[in-house]
Amino acid sequence: MMKVAVVGAAGRMGLRLIQAVVEAEGLELSGAIERPGHEQVGTDAGLLAGVGELGVKISDDLATTMSGADVLIDFTFPDVTLNNLAVCAELGKMVVSGSTGFSPEQRAEAEAFARRIPVVLAPNMSVGVNACFKLLKEAAKILGDDFDVEVVELHHNKKKDSPSGTAVRMGEVVAETLGRDYNQVANYHREGMCGERTKQEIGMQTVRGGDIVGEHTVYFIGMGERIEISHRAMSRDMFARGAARACQWIADKGPGLYDMQDVLNLK
Ligand code: NAD
Repeated sequence: MMKVAVVGAAGRMGLRLIQAVVEAEGLELSGAIERPGHEQVGTDAGLLAGVGELGVKISDDLATTMSGADVLIDFTFPDVTLNNLAVCAELGKMVVSGSTGFSPEQRAEAEAFARRIPVVLAPNMSVGVNACFKLLKEAAKILGDDFDVEVVELHHNKKKDSPSGTAVRMGEVVAETLGRDYNQVANYHREGMCGERTKQEIGMQTVRGGDIVGEHTVYFIGMGERIEISHRAMSRDMFARGAARACQWIADKGPGLYDMQDVLNLK
């Protein structure tokens, strides 16, 4: 059995992750961590997640919890994840992180830790979204520069980063396939007399509201026709199941930075 600890355990994803680990073959929940001062520190993780008492109390001490675990599942925020990676690199433990909103500098820091330990870092752990990444590559290859590309994403009103990590990755996949530099061509703002759309740009639009789990559409817009590649998440469970799958996959891997395309063998 692989021993798994979940950090951000009382969060929206944390609760789903506890359930997914309990249900996954070959995985055992050995620890659950929250930030110091969180009201659920000391609560049984299983009771909180609604899967029955597990005898695993939520702790605020990552290092001690990780000394008894093989892998950490981290769905928190980039600055928290970087601290967690530092602790896990020191202890030689594996990390599966779904945190989003990394700046290029933060991503480089994560890459440096991944030279010491195996790390899966993926802004979207759903199998469907990762299938979409592959479909987007194919669509961009076929449609080339003749179609304008726009990405629109919708999320709940508590989401902190924008655009979503998944939307950015979708934009990057299209840009890379078309030989463009995403950071040069991504257009996040159109307001006032901003001029005509350039041929190269990739529009990135966001909608926030209510309890939308996550929806992404990439539009390829040509003259007289339009292709839309869409993904709609109905619940958070498939992200959590994807993270459990990443834990099973990473067990025999060496140090390196991996993503869900590696886990799902889509490369
Ligand atoms: P959330 O706010 O509900 O949960 C985050 C949890 O992390 C909170 O309980 C918070 O107390 C805890 N936390 C904060 N600082 C901490 C610290 N220093 N130590 C331990 N715990 C700490 O957020 P959420 O909706 O669960 O999302 C969390 C992250 O997962 C976000 O970055 C989100 O974008 C990402 N996400 C990724 C995927 C994916 O498939 N990769 C899917 C959904 C959400």
